[in-house]
Amino acid sequence: MKNIRVRFAPSPTGALHVGGARTALFNFLFAKKYGGRFILRVEDTDLDRNQEHFLTEQLTALKWLGLDWDEGMDKAGEYGPYRQSQRLDVYNQYAQKLLDSGKAYYCFLTDDELAHMKETSQKEGKPFRVKSPYRNWSQEEAKKKQNVKPVIRFKMPETAKNYVVDDVVRGRVEFPSDMIGDFVLIRSNGLPVYNFCCAVDDALMKISHIFRAEEHLPNTLRQLIIFEALGWASPVYGHLSLILSTDKKKLSKREGALSCLEYKEQGHLPSALNNFLALLGWNPKDNQEVFSFSELISKFSEKNLNPAGAVFDENKLKWINAQHIRSMDYKEFWKMLQPLLDRDKINLPFLNNESLKEKSFHSLKSSFSTLKEAVEVFRFLSYDYFKIDDSVKEIFEWSHTKNLIQLWKEELEKVKTEYISLEDFKNIQNSIKTKLNIKGALLFKPLRAVMIGQVEGLELKAIIELIPRETLIQRSNQLLSQMC
Ligand code: GLU
Repeated sequence: MKNIRVRFAPSPTGALHVGGARTALFNFLFAKKYGGRFILRVEDTDLDRNQEHFLTEQLTALKWLGLDWDEGMDKAGEYGPYRQSQRLDVYNQYAQKLLDSGKAYYCFLTDDELAHMKETSQKEGKPFRVKSPYRNWSQEEAKKKQNVKPVIRFKMPETAKNYVVDDVVRGRVEFPSDMIGDFVLIRSNGLPVYNFCCAVDDALMKISHIFRAEEHLPNTLRQLIIFEALGWASPVYGHLSLILSTDKKKLSKREGALSCLEYKEQGHLPSALNNFLALLGWNPKDNQEVFSFSELISKFSEKNLNPAGAVFDENKLKWINAQHIRSMDYKEFWKMLQPLLDRDKINLPFLNNESLKEKSFHSLKSSFSTLKEAVEVFRFLSYDYFKIDDSVKEIFEWSHTKNLIQLWKEELEKVKTEYISLEDFKNIQNSIKTKLNIKGALLFKPLRAVMIGQVEGLELKAIIELIPRETLIQRSNQLLSQMC
């Protein structure tokens, strides 16, 4: 495929949610797969609902996901500006063309008159279609009428016809043109409506393919009509599957789906969120479920997009995230985790030792699924964090606990190195076992309590080499003082 140009066209009326991110992702993957260009166009003509901070938030989220654009807002390109509020003259110019060719007209119908028309159609049991008495007025006649600000309406041809879309995702979709009446292009306040700007921009920005949410399917008819009236070929459309909640209802922002940056906040990796979103409506046709970003690009095919509703299952996202974490390079992991550790003022003594840095990641990576969970795991290993959990009371009742901790401390004092090696640890355990004649939980629960303040949890072997000997001794003293 040649000259592929796709766009993501967000409106800054909210944060970037998973649905929007998935649309952006599919457009991005399609562009990258075929060596095309991914364009970011901001659709901000709804002045009442737009907020600049939503735009900033959406751009931050797209960049975090790695869905950076080749042309668009804040990047130069041949077809800019890429922000609709900066293109009002362009829409006016094309509205004027339609007026001049008799395909549009100024309409002075008031809201009350329209409401009345609607009511009458309802009473007659007919579908509502605007019947404007101004349909055949000339521009000159209209200009004489100064008292009411007109809208510019598209004049639907008298004879109906079928518009056909060969949708990449859904196959053939037909729209009879009499589904709609004369529709507004420019509002009375001078601002263009979404369908008009969208069609004009898609044509002028030479967009070849449009992948977008299913909810835009009904808009396609108006957009096709505008393309035709202005003599433009229409792009290829693909309307993506709905995203459903686990109870098979349409996923709504209110029903728990978070914005992308909230998923980031929860400790998800961008590569995992992309992987998860790609599987909502795209089927790789084999059993692979975990994809790196570059695999998504190479394996993506628009032919495998399917129209059936896709269920958004957060447990699956978490599982995918865990897989992505496990296959990370340790350096990359620590680079990502460091800001979260800094935020919580967690100081990990072993991080200045490269081999412990590597070892710690590999020995603990299966204990967390998200970066946030990783913070909670590594918190146990920080210098100054030793919180004795309530569960520890259980071992306080045991008659051998105090002796065990004393012995543990004595053994630690004998070691000369900064950290306890696995070998030393094994020897210490054996010595305690023999001296106290205990094994199993009777040994491990007190040892875990003295190391991390809880009786269940992390593997002792995975953490022993990561807590400095001095810290272990301090912790032993703290636990002993609690027992008295
Ligand atoms: N601005 C529209 C939205 O945010 C996108 C429309 C389109 O992709 O055609 O839903």
